[in-house]
Amino acid sequence: MSLARALTHTLFPCYCPCCHCPVDAQGICAPCLSALPLFAPDQGNLLLRADIQAQFNLPCCDGLIACGWYRGMLKRWLCELKLRQRSHAACLLRQVIAHQWQCYCAEKIIDVDAAILIPLPRHRLITRGFNQVMQTWGRVIETQLTILPVLSKRMTPAQQSLNRRARLKNQAQAFRLEGDLTGRQILLVDDVITTGATINAAAQLCRRAGAAQIWACATCLTPY
Ligand SMILES: [Zn+2]
Repeated sequence: MSLARALTHTLFPCYCPCCHCPVDAQGICAPCLSALPLFAPDQGNLLLRADIQAQFNLPCCDGLIACGWYRGMLKRWLCELKLRQRSHAACLLRQVIAHQWQCYCAEKIIDVDAAILIPLPRHRLITRGFNQVMQTWGRVIETQLTILPVLSKRMTPAQQSLNRRARLKNQAQAFRLEGDLTGRQILLVDDVITTGATINAAAQLCRRAGAAQIWACATCLTPY
């Protein structure tokens, strides 16, 4: 360890956010990262799981991948990022996402050539100042996949305030897609999937624009 690094480490020690043990570099320590209750990438497409297929309505998607259920540390970090703009939470989420994405790639389950991130409506982007999907997934996959800026979102009521039926109606006309996706294999990315209404509405537009394959992807799936 260089003298400068040793000095920084002494003055500003790093602790794992899960077990609070001292660590060499900022972030989750290796044992805590492997102990997080993430979906097992070797199980492949999550839509093949009966419990997930029963809960999420994604008829326009060919597959689904995600990090884990929306609870515990993942829920806490997502809330800290979205509601309190904590950049530290974005770093931790990127660490988890990079780990999970590498595992999915190693399993050769998905074959995609471009990504589309679910956008925020303009007014929400202005008040929040960033799109949390870009801050997390975008930063992890941008070196491997082209991120296509083809999807935009109109002003709609927040999905959390609506019941299942209202969500479907709300989402049906929420997006606009400009561009030709003929033959493309798309990774469609959101932060949390609750019913599937949002991501499926976007997938439907990708399909109409010619996409050959569409994989839905999220940091978390909301449990029942
Ligand atoms: Zn730890």
